[in-house]
Amino acid sequence: MSLGVGNDSSDGGMDLELSAHERAFVDEARAWLGTHVPHFLDGGPQPSGDTAEGFARCRAWERQLFEAGWSVVSWPREYGGRQVSIIEWLLFEEEYFRAGAPQRVSQNGISLLAPTLFEFGTDEQRARILRRMAAVDDVWAQGWSEPNAGSDLAALSSRAVRDDKRGGWRLTGQKTWCSRGAFCDWLFGLFRSDPTAERHRGLTYFLVPLRAEGVTVRPVQRLDGEPGFAEVFLDDVFVSDRDVLGEPHKGWDVAMATAGSERGLNLRSPGRFLAAAARLVALCRRHGGGTMLQRDAVARAVSDAEAYRLYTLQMVARVEDGQTIGPEASINKIFWSELDVQLHETALSILGPLAELTDGDESTWLKGFQFALAGPIYAGTNEIQRNVVAERVLGLPRR
Ligand SMILES: Cc1cc2nc3c(=O)[nH]c(=O)nc-3n(C[C@H](O)[C@H](O)[C@H](O)COP(=O)(O)OP(=O)(O)OC[C@H]3O[C@@H](n4cnc5c(N)ncnc54)[C@H](O)[C@@H]3O)c2cc1C
Repeated sequence: MSLGVGNDSSDGGMDLELSAHERAFVDEARAWLGTHVPHFLDGGPQPSGDTAEGFARCRAWERQLFEAGWSVVSWPREYGGRQVSIIEWLLFEEEYFRAGAPQRVSQNGISLLAPTLFEFGTDEQRARILRRMAAVDDVWAQGWSEPNAGSDLAALSSRAVRDDKRGGWRLTGQKTWCSRGAFCDWLFGLFRSDPTAERHRGLTYFLVPLRAEGVTVRPVQRLDGEPGFAEVFLDDVFVSDRDVLGEPHKGWDVAMATAGSERGLNLRSPGRFLAAAARLVALCRRHGGGTMLQRDAVARAVSDAEAYRLYTLQMVARVEDGQTIGPEASINKIFWSELDVQLHETALSILGPLAELTDGDESTWLKGFQFALAGPIYAGTNEIQRNVVAERVLGLPRR
């Protein structure tokens, strides 16, 4: 594929044909996933990473991925990657979802923290953390939200107090809605290290071991009854200086890099929606083709998934051209989260009363719908993303 300016397509646009090298990469990934995914699943439904047992099974699967070199394909080899291009990573994602492979419980680490470590971490931190993350020796939880700080993240009140004697900090406070936090090993989060500073300043980005003395992790049930969330209480928890990411008191800028990864390219690749749209087409066929309105909605899901793929490739072209994505990442986040809701609503409408069955082949649609409803909330709510688009992309006045 050749995306940037000066590519070899005749009309100066994007050349979306795979190169021989990319074709070989896709074939290799498809062959490996083809033999390993069904073997792992035993023909049964995917384990949910939001229960203790499912998390353990997903972790074992990710270990297999790592050992075969498919865990973090775009990372440097020293951390367990294959050092492939962003395009090849996207192609791998398409194969991954097409194969129906399990949920990545390492996601908050590999998609959000890792890019931030590449940008802001020290060599020591990268060497110590990244390979273990890729191998799922350590699984990471995200610790942004607090009971009184969600959309307004800078309102957070968990604090960090300097401990010069031991060369580190003492953390006290409460984090909430930590996805899979009950099963994770480490947490990354922001803490107020200088209470006298303006609220976006005086924050420090910490890497916190969840087994440390003073940490209490309490699971919280989700809408579907699974303990997918956790509250994390910190009571005078010691964290050494080597677990500060970026400079002390400058954590806001580091956290914004993580948020950019969450909304931009990393968290939800097009492969996820292309595969779901293909499953929707198959569902519609299995159920007699649906009504005209349902067929319209299916067609819309398919074309929206393809549009998201093309938009993503355009973003990649910009990144490869040395540009950054910036606030436009918010458009991305609104688009995929709304597409996911629409796609699942269509599936439930085609299933009719069968949609309510919680067992059997089609029951994954109800579960998928429940999770899709969360899409407009996590990674920053869509209302907040719309504010960002209005003010920072379109340049509209704040009021
Ligand atoms: C499935 C899921 C997984 C999550 N995982 C994590 C995780 O791993 N780690 C973590 O830290 N958090 C996580 N969260 C929490 C998530 O980040 C927050 O729910 C989100 O940021 C919103 O914060 P809040 O819930 O406090 O809502 P609030 O900020 O209280 O917002 C309530 C409502 O008011 C609206 N609103 C608020 N401010 C404005 C404004 N200025 N303009 C317009 N509307 C506004 C919001 O859009 C929302 O509709 C997760 C949430 C979900 C649903």
